[in-house]
This record gives sequence, C-alpha cells and structure tokens, in this order.
Amino acid sequence: MSQIDNLPPLRSVIETHGIAAKKSLGQNFLLDLNLTAKIARMAGDLKGSDILEIGPGPGGLTRGLLAEGARRVLAIEKDERCIAALEEIAAVYPGQLEVVNGDALEIDVTGRLEAPIRIAANLPYNIGTELLVRWLSPPTWPPFWTSLTLMFQREVAQRIVAMPGDKAYGRLALLAHWRTDARIVMDLPPEAFSPPPKVSSAVVHLTALPAPRYPADPVMLNRVVATAFNQRRKMLRSALKPMGGDVEGHLTAVGIAPTARAEEIGLEQFCALSRSFSEA
Ligand code: SAM
Repeated sequence: MSQIDNLPPLRSVIETHGIAAKKSLGQNFLLDLNLTAKIARMAGDLKGSDILEIGPGPGGLTRGLLAEGARRVLAIEKDERCIAALEEIAAVYPGQLEVVNGDALEIDVTGRLEAPIRIAANLPYNIGTELLVRWLSPPTWPPFWTSLTLMFQREVAQRIVAMPGDKAYGRLALLAHWRTDARIVMDLPPEAFSPPPKVSSAVVHLTALPAPRYPADPVMLNRVVATAFNQRRKMLRSALKPMGGDVEGHLTAVGIAPTARAEEIGLEQFCALSRSFSEA
C-alpha cells in the first residue's frame, strides 16, 4: 500500500495512544489512508479552502485532507485520548492543523476559519443527522460553508438524496434539496471500518446553492413539511389539519389534490404550499 505521508500507520497510532474504539462515541475508524485520501478528494478544491473536520479520531481523514493539500484544517474531537495523536499530525503540517478538544455540538466555529470553508467528516453516527440539520438550517443563506462531504449510515444517506415516491423521501430530503445539490459519492461496506459497524455506510457530498431553489419562509416550510410527514400515509387534507385554517383551500390553490399524500409531493409544491400558508 502506498504511503500518503511519513507518519506511522494508523494501527500503530491507535496502539501507541491507547485509542481502543468506544461505542459511546460512535468510534468506527477508517484505517486505510488511501481510502481517506480518496474521500478527501471528494470534498472538492482543498488547496484553496479551509476545512472543518468533526470527529478526527486518530486522524485518518485528517491526514488524507492534509496530504491532498488542504489550506487549513480545524479538527474538533471530543475524545481526549485522540488529541496527542492529532498533535503529532499538526507537527508535520506546521500552521495547517488546529486541533480542538471539545463537543462539536457546542463549539462555535464562526471566525475560526476563512472562506471558502468546506466541511468534511466521518461523523459519529449518533450526532450526524443533528449536525447536518443545523448546517442546512442557518439563520441566513448562503451558509458559512461551501460544501459538506460527510459519511453516514447508508440508510441516512438515502434519506438525504431521496426523491418523491422513494421510500426514503421525507423531511431530510426536502431540507437538503431546497438549498443544496446532494449526491451519494461513495459506498462503503462495514469492513472498511475498524471495528466494522453493523450497517453499510455512504459518503454524501452537498454543495450549497447561492439561493434556495424556490422562495419560501424557512420556518413555515419546515412546519408544513414536518406536519405533512408526521402522518405520511394520510391524505394531506387530514395530515395538515394541525396547521389550522382552510387546508383544502391552500392545497387546491397551489394545485395539490387534497387526497394526495406527502410522499408524492415535490419540493416546488411544498414551497408553494408554505407560501400560501404564510400569506394567510
Ligand atoms: N474521523 C475518524 C476516522 O475516520 O477514522 C473517526 C471517525 S469516528 C466514526 C467518529 C469520531 O467522532 C470519533 O473519533 C469520536 O470520538 C468523535 N466524536 C464523537 N462525538 C463527538 C462530538 N460530539 N464532538 C466531536 N467529536 C465527536
């Protein structure tokens, strides 16, 4: 296997620093540096970007990002045991890797990185969806990031890229599709990780659009979509009752049959429906 840097192999890093994988921290490590370099390349133009990495662990993806030329990497890791290993990488790339020991759900990264900013991560599965929803729902758009390149359980990845009629279609797909281009760029079997998780994984690459595809108030759109999918098998005229007002009137006004179900309705129609509710 070819080397991507002069640092020790990840297995010895894990042994030296006593980083036995902990389930509670969602630790399934990538040990093949050629694979992490490949994932890093999927993140786009690294040379001209600052990268935010969540959960670097022993540093497999971090090394991939730096070896592929990332301008700067800010890596946030909750597990204190990983910090010394990450500092060894920082020493080989002076001024290019900043390691922060903390919880990614609590650390504010504004002002710590310079645009364009790309986010790349083999995410801990227990917080992956929450982080994605936060990144997709900033107070203003465009967001602070240009692209997201993220590992998810394959089932979650499918929910992000799903289209109307797909089994996985729902809130996450609509949220992603409204303001990004999202696609699955790599599938990984459980054996790609150590220890192997129970399920397959996939890398999703999302690029922020300069503006939403269709106009809508984010809060109203989120409310309409959440209410519609809360009872996804019901006809919209019943599922949307909790919204109040003339539900059938709003549906008909934007060309949606009151008997249709949420899973059949595309983004453009959901945006029109949320505008109709907003206007009322
Ligand atoms: N990036 C490494 C790799 O690919 O081998 C590790 C990936 S592992 C799936 C997830 C990493 O996220 C672990 O190192 C874990 O300690 C870290 N982590 C878990 N919860 C976290 C949190 N709330 N904030 C920051 N890091 C967290």
